[in-house]
Amino acid sequence: MSEKTVRTLCFECHSRCGVLVEVRDGKIVGIKGDKEHPFSRGFTCFKARAVKEMIYHPDRITQPLVSLGGRGNGRWEEVSWDKALDIIAERLLQMREKWGAESVVMGQGTTRGLPPIQKRFLACFGSPNMMGTQNMSGGPIFVGSNVTCGFAALMNPDFAQSKCIVLWAHNPEASLAGLESNDVRQALKGGAKLIVVDPRRIPLAEKADHWLPVRPGTDVALALCFLNVIIRNELYDKEFVEKWTEGFSELREHVAPFTPERCAEITWIPSEEIERAAFSIAESKSACIGVGLAGVCHTTNAFALNRALCILAAVTGNLEVPGGLVNFRIPTGDRWCYGEDFDLMKNLPEEQANKMLVLQHYPLLSLLPNPAEVVWPAILDAGPYPIKAMGLFANNAMCAFANSRKVKEALSALEFLFSVDYFHTPTTEIADIVLPPAHWSERDDIEELLMRNYVFAQPKAVDPVPECRDEKEIFIELANRMGLEGFWKTVEEALSYRLEPIGMTYAEFKEVGSACTSIEYKTYEKNGFATPTGKVALSADFLAPYGIEALPTYREPARSPVSTPELHKDYPLVLTTGGRNIVYYHSAHRNIPSLRKHAPDPELHIHPDTARELGIEDGEWVFLATPLGRVEIRARHFDGLHPRVVHAPHGYWYGEKDGWERLNINMITYNEPLCPVTAGPPLKELLCRVEKHRSDAILNG
Ligand code: SF4
Repeated sequence: MSEKTVRTLCFECHSRCGVLVEVRDGKIVGIKGDKEHPFSRGFTCFKARAVKEMIYHPDRITQPLVSLGGRGNGRWEEVSWDKALDIIAERLLQMREKWGAESVVMGQGTTRGLPPIQKRFLACFGSPNMMGTQNMSGGPIFVGSNVTCGFAALMNPDFAQSKCIVLWAHNPEASLAGLESNDVRQALKGGAKLIVVDPRRIPLAEKADHWLPVRPGTDVALALCFLNVIIRNELYDKEFVEKWTEGFSELREHVAPFTPERCAEITWIPSEEIERAAFSIAESKSACIGVGLAGVCHTTNAFALNRALCILAAVTGNLEVPGGLVNFRIPTGDRWCYGEDFDLMKNLPEEQANKMLVLQHYPLLSLLPNPAEVVWPAILDAGPYPIKAMGLFANNAMCAFANSRKVKEALSALEFLFSVDYFHTPTTEIADIVLPPAHWSERDDIEELLMRNYVFAQPKAVDPVPECRDEKEIFIELANRMGLEGFWKTVEEALSYRLEPIGMTYAEFKEVGSACTSIEYKTYEKNGFATPTGKVALSADFLAPYGIEALPTYREPARSPVSTPELHKDYPLVLTTGGRNIVYYHSAHRNIPSLRKHAPDPELHIHPDTARELGIEDGEWVFLATPLGRVEIRARHFDGLHPRVVHAPHGYWYGEKDGWERLNINMITYNEPLCPVTAGPPLKELLCRVEKHRSDAILNG
């Protein structure tokens, strides 16, 4: 009997907690938190503890599959890797020959470390079209922060040292538990104030000094009001504002109409609460705003919101200070996972690079993958040029993106679709070919995205379950078959290339486990901010050539009690979707019994008064409807939200006949309009109605 323990990182979600994987005779037998990991410090959640169930699951796909007799009819033939890869390579080359390289799109969902490899593959192939989820997860934060102060400030809250934590549409205990919860707890223990801005009373709101249940989609008005209160009461950091910002007088004028009274009308939060919270932020010695990766992106006001929050941090003197928003230096520099030295998109000929779909409407997103919402219309309307083939990695697109029916229509219109996933999903079901990937515990990788000033090794603990393969090997094999120049020949070579800035090969690095840079504060005092003026752009006049307004402007959601009163008569409740549950990651994990038992059904949080008016009992199945259709969901009485607001989770589909159509909330969400700058979709600002379930059928017993 052989036994070993492997120190690595969990990747069942983006926290990437340090874990110790216990292996016996080549199989995982246990998993524990790594107390030496600097962020998670021994924490693990349900998902990590269920890893054995996942990788040895009887339904796991372990052999490449080719669809038989037409896509989507549920008939598959198991084939060898060679055969599957030969077919994919041949089809992609055919597409390039006939339609141009740009007709091939590669997409990823939960990323699993893939974007850099995928992007490099596309660069070598000649297509500028990677598709990702960044417009709905992090992209608007990255862009809004960078435009304002030249670094991804809102991605880097220093919770641990903060005297005032603002959680804005962010529930770290559910979404980034291992990465952030320890720091939040540490600050609260030390007496930090806590402000929670969330339509729902999340558990942390119970401990908060201020819980501000903002009407979904009106956050920009709240942020502008905070700025108004702080400026009007002269609570801002005068020295910093004078020396390091541009456009303060324009900002002052711009926010003046957002009085607490007006803001209360817009946001449904009492004006005194708004004012008190603004004072708390400004009067604390340090304050940091932690934003939800999705929470501040699922809105058509995403760019303005992230700009406004970054400005709030700036004028209160909380940029690049301990306890504020920090400017970390990534150890791998330009070779970090989105670094241009790694993906080599910069090597594409200009004419080809300019074909990137997103550039047509969203020029500020050029460094990020194309949002899916710009890809679907390009497929369906064949413009600006045909999109004919797609490879989807770790991406259950049919449930992940808004307006699932439209997604299915687009995927079905492709000439060729291959999908790479552990289990069948509604998306794999309509693919031509499905490939079985290795789990994170079965492959080597490097992680630095969201890892502050660190890069970590993520060595494999066991060999893949036969015949599953590291996704990086899939790209290497395809590149070999297709004769692509500039792609790596081995996984080790790819990982070592990325590590060159720290002077180690992957073999050396995995012995060490991690590397970090020192944290420096107020680096702008040496070089200024990385903006066109070297100062924080309160008013970003340099956006004018793009037709983008200089100051963050509040706009009502496209569908709301105010902007669409007629629609509101038929759909009288405001719907916000996609709040996280720690037992799941997006649409994954519902097939894992030990996880499903914690949250078996999608539950609609509805205020008890509203439910009573509708005659809906706690626990009763109901229909939730928007003009796009209706889904089934179990009503759960919850007094932690406004009586005119309801919340529905995303990601349910597994385990019910036609669950994709019946339970999946994205059947009734819209993929338009999008944020005009960052393409944020309106997943959190909808109108809906709740109807009694008129059938006797009760899901899940
Ligand atoms: S929070 Fe849970 S799933 Fe996410 S990385 Fe940590 S242990 Fe894994």
